[in-house]
Amino acid sequence: MANCLVDALLAGAETAPKTPFATAADGTVYDRVALALGARKMATALIDQGVLPGDRVAVQVGKSLASLKLYLGTVMAGGVFLPLNTAYTAAEVSYFLGNATPRVFVCDPAQQVGLISVAEAAGTQTVLTLDGKGEGTLADAQSRAVPLEQPIPRDADDLAAILYTSGTTGRSKGAMLSHHALLSNSQTLTDLWRFTERDVLIHALPIYHTHGLFVATNVALLSGASLVFLPGFDADAILEAMPQATAMMGVPTFYTRLLADPRLTPDRAANMRLFISGSAPLLAETHRDWEARTGHRILERYGMTETNMSTSNPYEGERRPGTVGFPLPDVALRIMGEDGVDVTPGEIGVIEVRGPNVFSGYWQMPEKTAEELRPDGWFITGDLGRVDAEGYVTIVGRAKDLIISGGFNVYPKEVESLIDDLPGVLESAVIGVPHPDFGEAVIAIVVPDGSGAVSKDSILAGVADQLAKFKRPKEVFFLDALPRNTMGKVQKAALRADYSDLFKA
Ligand code: AMP
Repeated sequence: MANCLVDALLAGAETAPKTPFATAADGTVYDRVALALGARKMATALIDQGVLPGDRVAVQVGKSLASLKLYLGTVMAGGVFLPLNTAYTAAEVSYFLGNATPRVFVCDPAQQVGLISVAEAAGTQTVLTLDGKGEGTLADAQSRAVPLEQPIPRDADDLAAILYTSGTTGRSKGAMLSHHALLSNSQTLTDLWRFTERDVLIHALPIYHTHGLFVATNVALLSGASLVFLPGFDADAILEAMPQATAMMGVPTFYTRLLADPRLTPDRAANMRLFISGSAPLLAETHRDWEARTGHRILERYGMTETNMSTSNPYEGERRPGTVGFPLPDVALRIMGEDGVDVTPGEIGVIEVRGPNVFSGYWQMPEKTAEELRPDGWFITGDLGRVDAEGYVTIVGRAKDLIISGGFNVYPKEVESLIDDLPGVLESAVIGVPHPDFGEAVIAIVVPDGSGAVSKDSILAGVADQLAKFKRPKEVFFLDALPRNTMGKVQKAALRADYSDLFKA
């Protein structure tokens, strides 16, 4: 039996010529041989720390090539990689460690002292740092370890990773991802997006999230592409890398920030063949502006922690702004109405997906799993969407963001799209807040574009003849920027909390 995921990701890496795998921000070039060897040594170092097949290895470290060795080394040792957002506080880490009970927790050297007691209280005895000063770090142990000869055998259905959801409602849940779920999705995306060893992918995403770890890194590993591996979004570094690169994967804010830079020109993007966006909705306007500036049509795709990627606009064929394209070749997608029956084409309902990409359930949460994953394999995504006559999928928002005002459904995206098109508006978020009469009232939070041509009256007048009265905002507020998380998602729960007392009697 083989180690399903790692065997595929590192296939040929040690026999291939020394092809570059990644160039770090400081110009250091890592080749595939070094990566594979480093992963083998890391696997030995983890086994020496007591990691057994199926053990979780929780990791809260910065983005580095060493952390990729840790990812591959964990899976090679038969472990389950569990990356945590570097922004999580000690209290949050305590919850994750208590829930996941990892064998080993690898953390930032600056946090180690404080986190040891947190980890011990949560039942994790071994707290290590990846690098840092002196001996005793994993990097140090790895450098002295004998490379693991054979990856520990793991089946297609065995877990390779647990990724916690961002937990905008209630506590985060650990999505269990099998070797096969991760591998099949990366293979599908590699083929669909035509990645080959000739590609150079700009990688500026975090690697504790599905986008940067499984979409970007796994696709590069599988296809033989190399990475420009940046610690985070940095317009200077991305624009400098672009003339030698062929592809970029980003969240929508990457694109809006790059558009604000006059150095983004057709010449600079001439070597690029593909710009991909996901993790949050890309405004149709950004899509159009990007095409006007660079000549490239951004390819938008849709996915989530629990499903990896589920849909994509086509590589060839029309990439339609405001849509997330078609279900991936091996993924089935349906739109369910409130009555639990498929809605007719074009109508809005909850998106469900089924396929090899779907997770195996939530770690230690059988009731949550049963609520969202049907016994026949359909996963209830919680996203609202529709499919048009040609099969393009449009995301309308999260079901929990649906506003019910006076008994009528209001889809925030419909109102936001109209407001976004008004003069003087950069973007908007439409939310529902408690209202004594209507249950919920629609309000709009608007970010002006700086031209000064926008006011509450202009917004209300602008939507008045386009929307039924119950959909029109009852109040309009202005902010300099919408609150977003690192993946560019607007934090609607935070906005709802900020304005929750607005209509209190
Ligand atoms: P996460 O689990 O953090 O990856 O978040 C997944 C959620 O991000 C999905 O359920 C969607 O609500 C949202 N999302 C991802 N990609 C897109 C997209 N292209 N357009 C709109 N929403 C998206």
